[in-house]
Formats: sequence, structure tokens, C-alpha cells
Amino acid sequence: MYGVINLLSIKGVFKNFGGLAALQNVNLNVRQGEIKALIGPNGAGKTTLLNIISGIHRLDKGEILFKDEKINNLPPSKIANKGISRTFQHVELFGNMTVLENIMVGFYARNKTSFFMDGFKFSFITDSEKKIYKKSREFLEYVKLGHKINEIALNLPIGEQRILEIARALATEPGLILLDEPAAGLNIRETRELGEIIKRIREELGITILLVEHDMELVMNISDSVAVLNFGEIIADGTPMEVQKNRDVIVAYLGEEEEVQPGYNVNT
Ligand code: ADP
Ligand code: MG
Repeated sequence: MYGVINLLSIKGVFKNFGGLAALQNVNLNVRQGEIKALIGPNGAGKTTLLNIISGIHRLDKGEILFKDEKINNLPPSKIANKGISRTFQHVELFGNMTVLENIMVGFYARNKTSFFMDGFKFSFITDSEKKIYKKSREFLEYVKLGHKINEIALNLPIGEQRILEIARALATEPGLILLDEPAAGLNIRETRELGEIIKRIREELGITILLVEHDMELVMNISDSVAVLNFGEIIADGTPMEVQKNRDVIVAYLGEEEEVQPGYNVNT
């Protein structure tokens, strides 16, 4: 399913907030084409790491390579243009805009490049609003929101808001998407639908995914590999099966030696 090439390499990253060591010597690789999960208790540093990858925070020490190029001194817009897009732990849509408008904003965010689906290679600089409109609609149909294009984003159920945010991230034509707890607040049915969409994005569009998530069933079902962050340190990194059986992980999650079962949710 995926190769051995590292699309993203995080090397020896440290981040302090005041006296608090949020990340301590974090090393993590995301291979081209994989779905990699990053799990860990609340406050472990997961969002901080995504913020550092996407350029929102500066790291104190270490290095981040994307396609073998150092990106950790670049501003967020440059990092996005290199092909890294993301969603947020707390949904950040333009709430008063329609579903369609939220996607069109995603296209304008990347106005110098071509679209990645078959046969539609064109520049957005010379392109008409009409084509962006058409492609936006196609994207919304791809994530099964085609029937909701004129609804106000804030009026969608939370599950659809999260999917809309993913669709907007797709519109920037990324090679890598960072998802920060996309299943938070979703019911079981919505979580399964989300899982299907994430798998399709990887399988059909070839986009690599770094998934921060608490829902263990989702993580264990769709991930190729899972890394565990605890108090700012990576304590395990391996296949879902290996990580579930890892003693350090079990202790970090449960404070005792029981196996972390799929379906276990750290927030409940
Ligand atoms: P997670 O996403 O794993 O729950 P975070 O990355 O949000 O964890 O937070 C890791 C630690 O860093 C927490 O102790 C949190 O309070 C702290 N932290 C995160 N962002 C900031 C910030 N901007 N300023 C100060 N402390 C922060
Ligand atoms: Mg977080």
C-alpha cells in the first residue's frame, strides 16, 4: 500500500512553552502514501506537533523535512504551498458562508497550481470563477456533501462540518493532510463515514495522512502505523497491533497493564 520513502521526517524536535516541555526530542517519520496515526493522552503535545509542522509554532530545536526539504523555518502559507494542508481540533470553517463558498476559498488559497484529478490540469490564475465553481461542486460530491452546497456551514451537523473542513483541505492539492481529532464529537455512524472518506482520500487521491485521533476503533481500523506521544515524548511507533500490545502505551493510557482495545476512547 505504501512505500519506504519518508514524505515527512520530524527529527529531534523540542518545544517549550514557558517552563513546560511540550515536545522533547520527537522523532517521527510519515511514509509516502500511508495513513499514520498519532495518539496519546490529552496534553501529550499532539496538536503542538501539528502546529509546528504547519508553521503556526516555531520549534526550539530540531528539524522538519518534507520531501527531503527543510520546512521548519517557513511561514504557514509557504508550508501550505509546498503541499501540506490541515484541519483543526476545533472546526475552523467560515461559519456564515455556505458550504460551497467554504470550498471555493480553499481553491483560492492555492491559486498557482493545477488540480489533481484526471484530465483537469489548468491554472487558477487564468481560470474563470465558473471552473472553480464547477470543481468545488465536484469536490463536495466527492465527499458526499453535494446536496448541501447552499447550506450555511454552521448549520451542518458536526460530522459534516468536519468532512467539509477535510474537503477544503483537499482543494489546496496537498501531498499530506494533517487531521487533528476529526472524529471528536462524532457519533459511531459519522465516525465510520469519516473513516471511509479518509481511506478513499489515501487510496483514490494518493494523499498521505497524519491522523491525530482519540477514537481507537477508527485509529486501529484505518492506520498503517501508529505513533504514541506521552508527555511530549514518542513512546511507541509501529503497526496498530504492535502498539496495542506495547506495555508503555498501556500504562500511559490506563495507568495499569491492560490491553488497549479498539473501541476504547480516551475521552470517555
Ligand atoms: P494534545 O493536543 O496532545 O492534547 P497540546 O499539544 O494541545 O496537547 O498541548 C501540549 C501541552 O502544551 C499542554 O500542556 C498544553 O497546555 C501546552 N500548550 C499547548 N499550546 C500552548 C500555548 N500556545 N501556550 C502555552 N502552552 C501551550
Ligand atoms: Mg490536541
